[in-house]
Amino acid sequence: MASDITMDKLVALCKQRGFIFPGSEIYGGLANSWDYGPLGVELKNNLKQAWWKIFVHERLDMVGLDAAILMNPRVWEASGHISSFTDPLVDCKACHQRFRGDKLLEDKLGVDAVAGIKLEEVQPRMMAEAIACPACKKIDWTEAKRFNLMFKTKQGVVDGEGADIYLRPETAQGIFVNFKNVVQSQLMRLPFGIAQIGKSFRNEITPGNFTFRTREFEQMEIEYFFDPEATEWKGLFEDWKKSTMAFMSETVGIHADKLRFRDHAADELSHYSRGTTDIEFAFPWGWGELCAAAAYRTDFDLTQHAQFSGENLQYTDPDDNKRKITPHVIEPSFGLDRTLLALLLSSYSEEKAPTADGGEDVRVVMKFPYRLAPVKIAILPLSKKDELTSISLPLAQKLAKRWRVDHHSSQSIGKRYRRQDEVGTPFCVTVDFDTITDNAVTVRDRDTMKQERIAIADLESYFSSKL
Ligand code: ATP
Repeated sequence: MASDITMDKLVALCKQRGFIFPGSEIYGGLANSWDYGPLGVELKNNLKQAWWKIFVHERLDMVGLDAAILMNPRVWEASGHISSFTDPLVDCKACHQRFRGDKLLEDKLGVDAVAGIKLEEVQPRMMAEAIACPACKKIDWTEAKRFNLMFKTKQGVVDGEGADIYLRPETAQGIFVNFKNVVQSQLMRLPFGIAQIGKSFRNEITPGNFTFRTREFEQMEIEYFFDPEATEWKGLFEDWKKSTMAFMSETVGIHADKLRFRDHAADELSHYSRGTTDIEFAFPWGWGELCAAAAYRTDFDLTQHAQFSGENLQYTDPDDNKRKITPHVIEPSFGLDRTLLALLLSSYSEEKAPTADGGEDVRVVMKFPYRLAPVKIAILPLSKKDELTSISLPLAQKLAKRWRVDHHSSQSIGKRYRRQDEVGTPFCVTVDFDTITDNAVTVRDRDTMKQERIAIADLESYFSSKL
């Protein structure tokens, strides 16, 4: 199993190796914003592609969508976000810093103890539990007030004028407002789902823990529509719980010990939801929400949008044209950044490794599942001499047509192996002076460190069978 890692170590490794950089760094940064570097973007794209393949391409009952981030503001009235997408904000009376009261309580008492807490209960509970201000350590809180998390901006070119518009706080509503278009253009029959990957924005009161909670993030969401008279919701709900958990354990490769389901308590559910189950991950600071495995949202969203837009969003039963229904929906909702963070944490491993002089050392290995590894193969000529690079460069070029390949000729081979281990490259290929005569290379396996000699002519089929 992977070794545990502190967040400080992970943040440093991500920056050093080019996974994730602090946002706007040369200007002193922008608090809690992060940029994905050359390896981070590969990892992110691989995660997205794996998710899309599993949940869209490999299923005949799913289609995709890419809706705009900016939507008609009425969407957010209908969905309830303008009136109730809020978190309880408390001010420290001593230092005037602002925090999310429920999260401070959660940090001390655990998620379950605070689930469903009412706005007016937040401050008295914080005082009773002697929750100190994380900034100045005093215990003196204002009453909690509702803080809307939506980012508001103006649409239009005239300064000071233009209509209020919001950056979407979730991708899901883009799916509901396109329900009719998708049904009509794709001839979809219930049950079926629509999937979408894209950016969402929330003006979080207390972002933090690296990419766990940021104000700009990416979501991968599914709305799975069904006829409640034909399909029993509980069975479907369980199927989606299984599929989301399988994605986290089998595709992302997270060990079962680090994952658990958490059912929302009755008083924690949104008013329209009849059941929600999250998947939590054991982050270094404790269990935290990784994704919503399944949420049963009934017909709430489609009914609201039909009412607010005046459009008929009903579905006509293809076997009985007179039967019109508003489908119900189950929503699995994944956070891409949180999944990537869990992937980094669970892949990190420290192992004893032999050194060239016969001693022992510790190597850091990112044991990414091969499918997700940012770089699949590193081609490493033993020296920078033309005799070797004239073989290694064309070889790298050839393999790069199929896989993401690195080519590095500087530093000692030992250092280059360590670097590739740290970025999780499954295979290193060494081109040495024997290659000139035997037309073979040494392939080193990331996990076992075993090396085998493979003929260059067989290399592509060798990797085809492994990757
Ligand atoms: P939390 O309780 O942590 O604020 P949430 O319950 O509001 O999360 P959902 O609305 O269910 O989150 O969003 C689905 C997923 O989107 C979450 O499980 C998470 O992976 C991701 N997500 C939500 N908010 C953020 C954020 N601020 N930064 C990064 N990812 C986020």
